[in-house]
Formats: sequence, structure tokens, C-alpha cells
Amino acid sequence: MTVAEAGQPAVGAVAGEPRFIIGPSQMPIRQLSKEVSSAIAAGEVVERPASVVKELLENAIDAGARSIEVVIEGGGKRLVMVSDDGEGIRADELSLAVGRYSTSKLESVEDLRSIRSLGFRGEALASIGAVSRMEIVTRARGAAAGSRLVVEGGRIGEPEPVGASPGTLVRVQDLFFNVPARRKFLKSESTELGWIARLVSRYAMAYPDRRIRFEGEGRERLHTGGSGDRREALAAVYGLQDAQAMIPLMEPAMDGFGFALSGFIGPPPIHRSNRREITVFVNGRWIQDVGLGSAVTQAYHGLLMVGKYPVAALFLQIAPDQVDVNVHPAKAEVRFADPQLVFSGVQRAVRASLLGQVPVHPLSFGPSGPTPGWTGSALHADRAAAPERVIQLPTEAAGAVPILRSVGQVGATYLVAEGPDGVYLIDQHAAHERVLYERLMKQADSQSPESQSLLEAITVEFGPSEINTLELNLSALGALGFRVEPFGPQAYRVRAVPAVLSGIAPDRALRAVVEDFEEDETPLGEETEARLAARVCKRAAIKAGQILSSEEQRELLRDLERCQAPRTCPHGRPTMIHLSVAALERQFGRRG
Ligand code: ADP
Ligand code: MG
Repeated sequence: MTVAEAGQPAVGAVAGEPRFIIGPSQMPIRQLSKEVSSAIAAGEVVERPASVVKELLENAIDAGARSIEVVIEGGGKRLVMVSDDGEGIRADELSLAVGRYSTSKLESVEDLRSIRSLGFRGEALASIGAVSRMEIVTRARGAAAGSRLVVEGGRIGEPEPVGASPGTLVRVQDLFFNVPARRKFLKSESTELGWIARLVSRYAMAYPDRRIRFEGEGRERLHTGGSGDRREALAAVYGLQDAQAMIPLMEPAMDGFGFALSGFIGPPPIHRSNRREITVFVNGRWIQDVGLGSAVTQAYHGLLMVGKYPVAALFLQIAPDQVDVNVHPAKAEVRFADPQLVFSGVQRAVRASLLGQVPVHPLSFGPSGPTPGWTGSALHADRAAAPERVIQLPTEAAGAVPILRSVGQVGATYLVAEGPDGVYLIDQHAAHERVLYERLMKQADSQSPESQSLLEAITVEFGPSEINTLELNLSALGALGFRVEPFGPQAYRVRAVPAVLSGIAPDRALRAVVEDFEEDETPLGEETEARLAARVCKRAAIKAGQILSSEEQRELLRDLERCQAPRTCPHGRPTMIHLSVAALERQFGRRG
């Protein structure tokens, strides 16, 4: 089944994106049979206030709500309130809705294979009601009046008629009041609030067609307009500036992969020191998948400073029979029929968008001088006051730089070059870092790194914690082509260095490995080599202030042209800025 066949466009679907129906199921609420309920992954749904918010939000979305409000007090421990304008619950079904395994979204084991709603376990309201004081006020569409039901610590009261507007309001107070052990386990109010805020933000980005308002501790913290414009939702979450700088994924649909991917990824300068802002939704469901997360980080390979992680909001649509959502009690994990296909598809799409959009920094002539940070992305191009758009590159050369003609060196720091569309100023240090880094990583990937033996081994002394750091990284060093051995308790001997680094003081290269280590997070196996390589290259690269011969200048340009990601150094800073012919013409008054 293809994506197009599997999903019919739903009301309010985001323009241009295929989407599976998330919405009212039209089925009555019923208690699932033993057979079905035992087939549902067992486990605790309610772990902390954020899990309550997640379940109630998902219920509101499933109910077809256009407008959803979340109100939190005391980090969600004292109050979680979610109200929506969805289809509501019929008065005669209200008691059933709060019972275990009661759902309107699933009937048979067969249905479990093609779930199209966020909920299906029929467990959330029952679980929440068991560990809190829960009140539901709801009015079904078309019903003359509403009804109200209270559940306290699992004791279900009698539903009573009340006046209510269409939709549903669930008020959850004093979470875990009857399970002190669990309550003690909760974190501080501000930590719990942080989790909830991140969760609501994710759903706001995933459902830009719903109006979502979040109020925490008496303050409005998020409010999306429900226009369906995902960038608008991103702005509500990340602020206008970052949202505008984020790069749309270039592949709205990946035919042949059996899935479609959309979303936004942060350009390298927008990053975090942890993975928390990598958000992945699969068929409208937020999932935490280690494999998908690292597919995203790997796509930033060499573009982000080591120990830094990207910001990304990815929305994957895949035929429901290609993904099993029934593997985790909180539905936070899924199992793909062909995980490798999905991971490599995601990685490729992110990488392509990233390289295609990493712009050459254009030179701006505003009063503030050259624009700092990330400018010239596709978004800025359509802004009236935007600096001249960077040259448009053919897709197959995405990320590449054009052939450059060396003109000279300025201030012993920058190279001046001419390209097909104007002048390029190149930071010689950053450019050389990039060149060395790619060579070194290529060597490391080749499994048999080329080493250059030193005529005379060099001894480098270290302090105790530095020795420890070095020892932790010995195998990565070997993979890069270093040959080092302990020499007494406080020293190491360097016998060989990577061939690509020959001509560089070996002791400096080795010192680079252990310095600044405290700044990093815990080292990650997969990234150790890249991190070491980036650090070593920083030390080894040509410095600012170093005069280069014409031949050396030309060689550096040639080497840079051959790089995969020539526009940034391994730490994500730009290697070049661009002054287009059009910008020159404007400045000289040749063109309006
Ligand atoms: P599930 O979502 O897995 O079906 P829940 O315990 O979360 O289980 O909800 C039980 C049932 O109550 C749902 O199937 C749905 O019919 C009804 N329900 C819950 N919340 C809402 C809501 N906000 N609007 C309308 N119906 C709701
Ligand atoms: Mg539910």
C-alpha cells in the first residue's frame, strides 16, 4: 500500500502534506474484549503530570477538536486541565469511557494493525481517574445538554446533567494523592512544568491546524493560531527569529521509500547541547526512537560542533501497516516493518536539505555591517530587506562551492577569490580546518588510516586527568592514524601521526585531544572520532595571520572546492562570505 492509498486527506490537513485521519471514530464506546485487551501492551500509562497532559491532548485531537487549551498549576501535580471543542462524549457513554479498556477507537485485534487514532488502548481515563481527583464535563455534538462525572482515586461517581458548551473538559487534580510513593517520585514543579511545556510544544508543531493554548502557573506560555502553517507554529515554540531560519525539508514526499517526510530542521548555528529538541512524529504520534534520533544527528555530521545537537521537527507519514504502534504502554515507541529503510531515508533527506541550504554568507551593507549568524537561507530570500540571495546552485551540486579563481590574500587572514557570481572572502583558518577534517574522517572511515612515522618519537607530558582522557580515546586516535604509547605514568610517546597531518607539530595535535574536554558532555561512542578529528584539525589548520604564497592560496581553494560541506568549518562556523555581482552593482549605483 502506498502512502497516498493509505491516507485520505483529513479535514484541516496541513497543505501539501499527506495525512492519515486523526479524528472522531464514529464508533460507540465499548469495553474491549479480554482477547483484545490482553493483546495491548500492558503497562503504566501515567508516570508523571506530562503523561496526563499527553493522554488528554491526544484524546482532544482524536475527538477532532479545532481548539485545545491546556492549563497547569503546581507543575501539573496540583492541576492539569485540558479542554477542547471536539465531538464530546455522549451522556450514556460517559461512565463507560472512564472504565478500563473502554474505547470507541478499536474493536478487534485486526484493527490493532491499522490504527488511525492516537488513542486505542482505552486505558488513559481509567488510569488517570485511579490516581487523581478527575472531573469530566462534556457535551456531545448535537446533544441538548452536557454531563459531568467525577472519579476520585478510582471511585466512579454518578454522571449528572449540567449546562456545558460542546466539547470536553477534563480537570485532573492532586495527581497521585492516593499513591504517596509515586508522588514522592515526581520532580520539582519547575522541572515537571518544563516537561509539559516541551510536550505541548511538540504537539503544537505537529498539529498546526489546531489552535493550541498553554497556560502554566497563571501565565500563557504558548499559543498557536491553528492556521495550518507549520512555520507559524514553529515561531510560537522557538521564537520568530529561529523559526524563520529553520530549513524546510526538501522532500515533501519520498516516493519509492513508501513514506513521506516533512518538517523543519535547524541550520547548524541553531543547536542545543542535548538531543531533546529533536522531535519525531510518526503518523501524527510523537515517538522517541533512538535510531531515528541518531539518523538525524548523523545527517549533521561535520556541520555541528562536537557535543552539540540539532533542533529538528520531523513528521513522518507511513502506511499504517508498515508500522506497529502497539509496542509501548505510553505509545512512545513504534516498530517499523523495515527500520533500515526509514532511517536511511530520514538521514538522506535531512542531509540533502542541510547541504542544499547551507548558504554562503552574503555580505550585507546595512548600517550594522556584515550580518552575523545565519543569513541568506531560503527564507530570507523572500523578505523585502533581505540581503542579496546567495547564488542558486544546481541540485546535484547542493552544498558545493563553485570553481573559484584566486585573487589574493587580505590581512594575512582572508583569501579573496572570484566565482561565477561575484567575489568570495574565505577565512583561511576555517577553510583549512574543513579540508583537514574531511581528509582525516575519510581516512578514519577507510579502516586503514595512513600514518606517517616520526623519525624520532616525541614525548608529551600530561596531568593525571588528562592521561585518563587520553586513555579513553586511544582507540579513536588509532582509527585516525595516530600511534601513541604510554611512556611512564605521566607521559605518552607519539610514534606516528595521520599522514594528512604531517607537517604539523605532533605534540600539539595530541594535546588538542585532551584539552577543553570538560566543556563536552559525556563522550558518545559513535561520535568520538569526529569530535577528536574536529579538535585536532582546529590545532593543525593554518592560522589567521599566516602569510600564504600564491601557490598555497590556490591549493587551499582547490582543496576546499573538493570538500563535501565546504561552507562551514567542522564546528559549524562559515568558511566564506559572498559578495554577489548584483550587490556590487547596487552599491555602485549601476542598478536600482
Ligand atoms: P482511548 O483514547 O485509548 O480510546 P481513553 O481512556 O483515553 O482511551 O478514552 C476512552 C474513550 O473516551 C475514548 O475512546 C473516547 O471515545 C472518549 N473520550 C476521551 N476523551 C475524549 C474527548 N476529549 N472528547 C471526546 N471523547 C473522548
Ligand atoms: Mg486516549
